[in-house]
Amino acid sequence: MAMTDAQHAARLLAQRAHEVGRSSGQERHGLLRWLGCWRLTRSVTAELDMPWRDEASGERSGWRQRTAYSDGEFAFGVDYQVCRECGLGWVEQPYTVPEFERCGLASAGLAALRAEYPGLAWHTLGGHFAESRGFWAAVGAGVTGAYEQRRLCPHVSRAERREARPAGRSWPG
Ligand SMILES: [Zn+2]
Repeated sequence: MAMTDAQHAARLLAQRAHEVGRSSGQERHGLLRWLGCWRLTRSVTAELDMPWRDEASGERSGWRQRTAYSDGEFAFGVDYQVCRECGLGWVEQPYTVPEFERCGLASAGLAALRAEYPGLAWHTLGGHFAESRGFWAAVGAGVTGAYEQRRLCPHVSRAERREARPAGRSWPG
């Protein structure tokens, strides 16, 4: 099956998952020279402008979301939470936009998180649907914790409750 432009861009993006929210001009120059191909150069430039980002989760208060954008388009996101005290990390609901699927974005994003928080055991909060078991087995191979289901530790759930308290919210209007 031929790779689409989107999939090609997503594969290159997956290779840069360790570069979060920054790109230096110098790096870009070197890459462009190395590639020496205008068409590729253009797509790589677009990716450097839209790197991986670390954002607040839109769904879970107190959680972060690691995201990847390809050409300004949201391509991948996974919620995560860590507790250094317990040496635990959780990831939840990795999601890849269908046109960018099977390009390694999810496994690259998870690997980048593990590299940024070394020494943690990694888990998921919820159970795994039957269709995602193969994915978790693949990305969890050799990973401490193996992304097996595990409840949040008290430190993290306390922080969640604190942030979720309605009194702390302000409503527009
Ligand atoms: Zn903890």
